[in-house]
Amino acid sequence: MSHVMHTYKRLPVAFERGEGCWLWDKQGKRYLDALAGIAVCGVGHSHPRLVKAICEQAAKLIHTSNLYEIERQEQLGERLAAISGMDEVFFCNSGCEANEAAIKLARLYGHHKGIDAPAIIVLEKAFHGRTIATLSATGSRKVQAGFEPLVPGFVRVPFDDLAAVRKVAQNNRNVVAVLVELIQGEGGINICHDGYLNGLREICDANGWLLMLDEVQSGIGRTGKWFAFQHSGVKPDVMTLAKGLASGVPIGACLAAGPAAGVFKPGNHGSTFGGNPLACAAALETLAIIDDEKLMANAVAIGEFIHDGLRNALAGSSGVREIRNKGLMIGIELEVECNQLVKDALAEGLLINVTADNVVRLLPPLNMQRAEAQQLVTQLGALIAGFLAKSHIAPAAVKTA
Ligand SMILES: *Cc1c(COP(=O)(O)O)cnc(C)c1O
Repeated sequence: MSHVMHTYKRLPVAFERGEGCWLWDKQGKRYLDALAGIAVCGVGHSHPRLVKAICEQAAKLIHTSNLYEIERQEQLGERLAAISGMDEVFFCNSGCEANEAAIKLARLYGHHKGIDAPAIIVLEKAFHGRTIATLSATGSRKVQAGFEPLVPGFVRVPFDDLAAVRKVAQNNRNVVAVLVELIQGEGGINICHDGYLNGLREICDANGWLLMLDEVQSGIGRTGKWFAFQHSGVKPDVMTLAKGLASGVPIGACLAAGPAAGVFKPGNHGSTFGGNPLACAAALETLAIIDDEKLMANAVAIGEFIHDGLRNALAGSSGVREIRNKGLMIGIELEVECNQLVKDALAEGLLINVTADNVVRLLPPLNMQRAEAQQLVTQLGALIAGFLAKSHIAPAAVKTA
């Protein structure tokens, strides 16, 4: 019997080694990884440069605590500021912690303005994490159920709906910030329309709100830019990062600019591990590899190749609602619940994910090659087509929550 607490329904496979887009299990069977540890292993598995950087840093110094100056943290802060245009960074260890920092920062910003019960606008189908505050911000009953009472101070609006945000602005004097994912990952690869971020920026500026972006999944090159917001011309006040930042060495970051910079003072927030030399060295090398190997351009090209390939492969199948992507955040929305596809794919040596019950989600390494993408398209296209052909579930049975 396992002594690991049963918080995951795990697939019956354990991997022993990885290289690029490939993983091998204990029996030596090879798998094509189109999930990259849930958008974490952007430079592929065990990239030699990353391994070297981690080993060298570990041999020199792993952790000292934030009671002292940390050179690697200063370097990473400088690098993140340079590629994002943000002013300052708080380092932590995960996505939910980065969002906790953002929520605390927004509340403190509100209190400084004399608002005693500050509120943050969040979206339907959002995912911000599993801590009590971030699950309260999350727009999923599945994530919240059983953990009430929820943290107050969140106002929920539909995704990609500027009118709904404007309406809150008219009626609620306590709002201090909006927190959004421009592309909802767990929610089903939902991509906001082109003018959405510009619209949010205008509303935030008019009302003195902080524009806070959760780029935990969409950041670090995945959409073809360092950050998803860079596809538009506007900048957020707060941005959170984690998943792909250090290729699997735990790290999270909450970045602030403009009115959000300088809000936290000594004593307001902290983390024992946050931004330690090991995690920062892994992040610095990850960013350098993405740059040197032009992986953002590759993410755009391979994302388009997979999108077009799957559209062709599934052209004759009924039951595909939409295939959408931004770089290598790819969703294939079906008209039926399709969780079974994950096991079918695994049996064929292909690692994929299904989210929101009816969306096949692909988050491959940013350095996936064309031949690997072709194999993914061929295998997954056939799997989905076969699944839809034998699926007798009526479209009415789709869960959209
Ligand atoms: C994964 C994720 C989180 C939570 O990150 P953890 O590291 O699991 O705490 C938060 N926001 C988004 C958008 C995510 O994809």
